[in-house]
Amino acid sequence: MDLPVDEWKSYILQKWSLLPKAVRVTISTAETLSDIFLHSSSLLQPEDEMFMKKLSRGYSVGKDPDAPFFYREEGNKKFQEKDYIGAAVLYSKGISHCSPDTEDISLCYANRSAALFRLGQYETCLEDIIRAQTHGYPERLQPKMMLRKTECLVTLGRLQEASQTISDLERNFSAKPIKEASPCQILQKNVHYLKMKLKEKKNLLEMVPAALTKAFEDISLKEENKQISGASSSVGLCSDPLKGRYLVATKDIFPGELLVKENAFVSVLNPGEMLPLHHSLQSNWGTRITNGDLYCHGCLKHTLATVPCNGCSYARYCSQECMQQAWEYYHSTECALGGLLLTLGVFCHVALRLTLLARFEDVDNVVRKLCDEISNKDLCSPENQTLDKPHNYSQSECEEKYRQVENPIPGCSIDGKYEHNYNAVFNLLPHTENHSPEHKFLCALSISILCRQLKATNLQAVTPDLPSSRSKAAMIPGLCADQNIWGVAMLRHMLQLQCNAQAITAIQQTGSKESFVTSSKQVRLATGIFPVVSLLNHSCSPNTSLSFAGTVVTIRATQQIGKGQEILHCYGPHESRMSIAERQQKLKSQYFFDCSCPACHTEELRTAVGPRWEAFCCNSCRALMKGNAVLSCGTRSCTESISRDHLLSRLQQLQQQVEMAQKLLRNGKLEQAIQQLLVYQQDAKSFLWTEHTMVGKIEDNLAQAYAALGDWQKSAAHLQKSLQVVEARYGPTSVEVGHELFKLAQVLFNGFAVPEALNTIQKAEKVLLVHFGPQSSEIKELQEMRSCLLDLPPAFVGPSV
Ligand SMILES: [Zn+2]
Ligand SMILES: [Zn+2]
Ligand SMILES: [Zn+2]
Ligand SMILES: [Zn+2]
Repeated sequence: MDLPVDEWKSYILQKWSLLPKAVRVTISTAETLSDIFLHSSSLLQPEDEMFMKKLSRGYSVGKDPDAPFFYREEGNKKFQEKDYIGAAVLYSKGISHCSPDTEDISLCYANRSAALFRLGQYETCLEDIIRAQTHGYPERLQPKMMLRKTECLVTLGRLQEASQTISDLERNFSAKPIKEASPCQILQKNVHYLKMKLKEKKNLLEMVPAALTKAFEDISLKEENKQISGASSSVGLCSDPLKGRYLVATKDIFPGELLVKENAFVSVLNPGEMLPLHHSLQSNWGTRITNGDLYCHGCLKHTLATVPCNGCSYARYCSQECMQQAWEYYHSTECALGGLLLTLGVFCHVALRLTLLARFEDVDNVVRKLCDEISNKDLCSPENQTLDKPHNYSQSECEEKYRQVENPIPGCSIDGKYEHNYNAVFNLLPHTENHSPEHKFLCALSISILCRQLKATNLQAVTPDLPSSRSKAAMIPGLCADQNIWGVAMLRHMLQLQCNAQAITAIQQTGSKESFVTSSKQVRLATGIFPVVSLLNHSCSPNTSLSFAGTVVTIRATQQIGKGQEILHCYGPHESRMSIAERQQKLKSQYFFDCSCPACHTEELRTAVGPRWEAFCCNSCRALMKGNAVLSCGTRSCTESISRDHLLSRLQQLQQQVEMAQKLLRNGKLEQAIQQLLVYQQDAKSFLWTEHTMVGKIEDNLAQAYAALGDWQKSAAHLQKSLQVVEARYGPTSVEVGHELFKLAQVLFNGFAVPEALNTIQKAEKVLLVHFGPQSSEIKELQEMRSCLLDLPPAFVGPSV
């Protein structure tokens, strides 16, 4: 996904292996990026371009005039099945293949408005109705849509507009003879009903007191940092030859404090699994829901009502504004490249977009920098700044370093300010000497092929239909004058991305409609570059936590950080998710350093028990089993011993059984699922350590099953056990525990267990606040639950759990 597709990768690797040795040596020993780029791209042959053309044709992004009908039919089927989300997504897919101002597009928008209406998304429903009308929705179908419009307006309390719509409709009807039973009567009856409903709703709202307390004030950047844009004043930028650049606390920082709030300098939506579309036409029209269907390709906002690019079926946006902005800044160039960018992968795409965005900054400055690069002003070598050799500085040492800014820190402006701009991005390290020669060759050739395609498309006339960008000059980048300069810049970015790309994630709610308890999982939405976040070094047990809202990242302290201490963030290999060996391997291969963070340091000293969440227990005395190939009981008086392979195969079997039970759960066979899970629970206890992940998983499934049955009491009891396992693994203040507490709060809330629910809500709030801040949806939901509980009349309070 990040790198080019496998076919291209193996093609280039083969090409590399067939090169004369002397050529390979030249490229391997080339010291600058421009040498690497120039040598490599001179080897690009027409047949290579042909091969790439063939590959990228598989990723069709054009508009297919036959697709809208197909998707509308498929959407209608989902609608019939009452799967309104599925229906909306399929209508969106249809819309993305439509040309503007056609009956097709207006029908798709109208159908989508119906799905959105059923989902209670009245505002977006109204937007789609307007879209349907502007694209020429047929007159004969209007009344039904107007009825929907009126219902939306009434529900939203926009009564005046509603009655206006009614009278417009009535005028229309009286103008034409109608044979059917007067639709106006039905309509008015409906409106009357909705008005009643609205009144009820208003009364209800008056009964609930306004926001209970403002207990949790918004934690915003207390004071913006004068040196680093987007950081709080509690943070300082340091640099030394050993560690490179890093951030320290310039005053004591408390848990939950907001340290950085930064919008991505660039972000590219991750298409998810894009299967190449071969041969048969039918398979061209995938019906699977991907990230690209649910999130704006510009601002990453979640939406079911996307508007497509007029030029392709791939790019989709949350609004006309996002579409226009994307077109102006980068998509006008990208759109013309067709499936090539999907074939070349996200890193290539980010590299291109970075250079396109650079045009809107001080172009002279950028070009000068690129020329420096190409004339080898040691920007890429020697790289004396290696990543992170964590080492704790004393406070005075740090302040000392903080003062010595005679040598400006790379990426800063002349006045020492680190800004969120192309200059900062350009100065992120590409680690040229650490990448393998094959990898550099692959990147260089991929960029080179992109450059040639850009040159070819820029020569073509711009389609007049497309929203015109500022000027033709902006379409053809100024940098285009020298393709090589442009290419070298993109190659630099592509190499930078391996260490500096930040996965932008979102929390997606999962769980079936029947179970009232929602689970959430993190999904990777996009790849972005955040110049300020890139300043943070890694630790496997970091003192901060990251969260995203669209393309904006916030970093909060998860624990107290003393003045002078380094601020650390985890690049992925967290101590609670991977063993030390896996972490070291990952950090070395991707980030080129050996981690010596406190977690790695202490764990190396530990015995070979392995992580507790994978541990086994003794069959007879339940003590922890220790050892490698053969495990023996930790209790002195006990002589149990057993082979690891045997235990692992038992675990595997249990895993499969639990998966079967989960299937039953999903299919609503609750009693059966519970029966089986209770058996597995006993089985797990006989050989797995109490904190084993599988033990927690079984408890969690039992909790789900009981919740679906409405047995809140039992559900809560199992959830408590699952919570213990999660807490043992991730720690009591982790985001994982926060999510478990949230689930538990929902269960207790639904069971009217007032004191327990209030207690759990408070705990959940405390943990989640640190990670996501007061504006997150989870926090808001918790607060709503609390005010609802406090508002219950005493008689309402049912049996306590
Ligand atoms: Zn958007
Ligand atoms: Zn497009
Ligand atoms: Zn570590
Ligand atoms: Zn034992």
